[in-house]
Amino acid sequence: MTSPEQLSIPWQNLLEALPDGTALIDSHGVMHYVNAELTSLTGYTHDELVGQNVQILIPPDLRAMQGEARRQYARHPDSRIIWNDRNLTVLQKDGTERPVDFALSPLVLDGVRWTVGSIRDNSVQRAAEQARIEAEQHFRLAFEDNMAPMVFTDLEDRIISANDAFCAMMGRTRSELIGFDSKPFTYPDDVGITEASHARFLHDEIRQVRYIKRYLHKDGRMIVVEVSKSPARDKTGKTLYFIISERDITEERMLTAQLSHQALHDPLTGLANRALLDDRLEQAHSRIVRQGGQGALLLLDLDDFKGVNDTYGHLVGDQLLEAVARRLEGVTRATDTLSRFGGDEFLYLAEGISGADEAEMIGERFLRSLDEPFVIGNLSLEQRASLGVVVWDATTAELLNVVRDADVALYEAKRLGKGRQFVYVPGMHHQVINRFSLVQELRQAIASGELAMHYQPILRLSTNEVVGFEALMRWHHEQRGWVPPGVFIPLAEQSDLILELGAFALRESIVAAGEWGRSKDSLSEPYVTVNFSARQFHDPGLLAMIKEELDASTLPADRLIIEITESVALLEVADTLKLIEQLTGLGIGVALDDFGTGFSSLSHLALLNPMIIKIDQSFVRPAIESIHSDRVLETIVSLGHNLGMTMLAEGIETEGQLERLRGLHCSLGQGFLFSPAVPFAEAAMMVGTTF
Ligand code: C2E
Ligand code: MG
Ligand code: MG
Repeated sequence: MTSPEQLSIPWQNLLEALPDGTALIDSHGVMHYVNAELTSLTGYTHDELVGQNVQILIPPDLRAMQGEARRQYARHPDSRIIWNDRNLTVLQKDGTERPVDFALSPLVLDGVRWTVGSIRDNSVQRAAEQARIEAEQHFRLAFEDNMAPMVFTDLEDRIISANDAFCAMMGRTRSELIGFDSKPFTYPDDVGITEASHARFLHDEIRQVRYIKRYLHKDGRMIVVEVSKSPARDKTGKTLYFIISERDITEERMLTAQLSHQALHDPLTGLANRALLDDRLEQAHSRIVRQGGQGALLLLDLDDFKGVNDTYGHLVGDQLLEAVARRLEGVTRATDTLSRFGGDEFLYLAEGISGADEAEMIGERFLRSLDEPFVIGNLSLEQRASLGVVVWDATTAELLNVVRDADVALYEAKRLGKGRQFVYVPGMHHQVINRFSLVQELRQAIASGELAMHYQPILRLSTNEVVGFEALMRWHHEQRGWVPPGVFIPLAEQSDLILELGAFALRESIVAAGEWGRSKDSLSEPYVTVNFSARQFHDPGLLAMIKEELDASTLPADRLIIEITESVALLEVADTLKLIEQLTGLGIGVALDDFGTGFSSLSHLALLNPMIIKIDQSFVRPAIESIHSDRVLETIVSLGHNLGMTMLAEGIETEGQLERLRGLHCSLGQGFLFSPAVPFAEAAMMVGTTF
């Protein structure tokens, strides 16, 4: 056998020139020649390697592989083995491993079989490979495991790849998605959106588009998604596929829709609210201006609704409002708008009206819809309404006027006795009370002396002798003439203005009664009864004010009687009671006004324990006409007597009524039969007289 040392050298030079670390190995695996590259790849010197078995260069865990390589080589001794696809390493002298590719080639020299083994450092490729694997893992994390639904689609919108979140959102498996375009599971109206987005990428260099699209879940429900779509482009800028990330905004959308519904609807009745009605009104108006025709606005206000709240509490009040809303809704046209205008007011907008007659027919339907009593729990409540109607067309200059005019008409309906409608007559707002300016005018009325107290005599029925007066407020408006307290008192009660009016009534009455008393002997000194609003009872300065007025006058406290109606809120009953105790402590009397009209008369009676009960005129008037109401009157009077209270009958208009009341031993009375309320001077002349 020829040893390598004996070989002539040219191929040795050749081996040195090779870029790979190379060894000439005999059939036992012993290296007979190594080139310099091999020494530098392994860290051994030339002499340390030559004569050694190649085993020393093979890491222990790869030795089995060496066996396999040898066997493979042995089976095909003339073929080459190149292993560059495995994680092979060479064991260096210092014990560390270096990643390499590996090749074995047969070589026959002088009939002797050698093997040329070569290794090539591939750490750079390995690192690149590792980076690729990591990138793939990152991609998995970013795509497959992303919480956000993601898909890749081709240029024809076919799904190439979809992540779990996307599958879950759509309720479909990958095999139901991949390879298909999105049309079958896109909400029909939105099918064109995808193509439109592609077009945007084609025409300009946009990197991302966002749009809202609706899908159909496998179960048929609609899903709203926000789509972010980016093209994956090659170096030349050509789009290869699309990367799409989505966000399910279905719930958000529903919430927004709900919120905008809430913003435009009254939470209690679900009807349109004022904002929505204003908007519709404006739209209707511009349609009328463009196309002609007429519109109608109907303002409906529940009559004496406050009493329900005061008597039964707000819960029942709310239920009644809801029930009223449903009745009204039942007679409306789908194209018109019924809204709750606040409190107990409803505003109805009707378009395409032929004129006032048609508007009135609608109004009549509304009023009739309230005819039947409302059943709330075990209560049966009557609830009527008044209606102001306005018809307008393109010539109506300002829209605001339309609402104001409806209000003017409504007040006219109330003034004419409630439970009815009134159609606005152009120009009438100059004559009738306009709620918008009324409060303002009322303020001025106090200062300008338009308000006055009138006094209606109260008589002892057994003798017809005048024993006192009820003070009733009068407003003589410069242009409008007499404005009834039934109109302006409820308005004043909506603000603190009632406190001013209340103070005015009290001051005037105390001064007046003081004057009458001075002119008479103390036995016939008349008392004065002053009406109080519930709101005055919540005025913390009330007691001090009454004391002050009494101190400044000559009127003894026991000649002053405060009238409280049932509208005194039972809700704040503790406060009211405390105040009444303080008043009676000062010697001031309390009368319960309009007894019998409220539903809680008896509970009020027990709580307030008034000195006088004023029987409402509705019980007095029909007394002799019906046996039934006569019984009611009789019952009320005997009830008061049993409780030790003084009974006073209001609204006595006929001798018959007077006789009946005398028969029942009702001690006091007032009414047109004797006298209406008259100015101070006239009242003064009645003091001590007998009718
Ligand atoms: P009220 O306290 O029940 O007053 C009795 C009402 O009946 C008065 O109406 C009086 O003019 C009227 N009246 C008297 N006799 C008869 C009669 O024989 N037949 C008929 N049909 N009516 C009669 P008025 O003056 O219009 O007052 C209405 C309501 O306004 C009063 O009812 C009272 O609740 C309120 N009011 C009047 N003045 C004041 C005030 O100074 N302060 C407050 N808070 N309320 C007042
Ligand atoms: Mg009264
Ligand atoms: Mg009364």
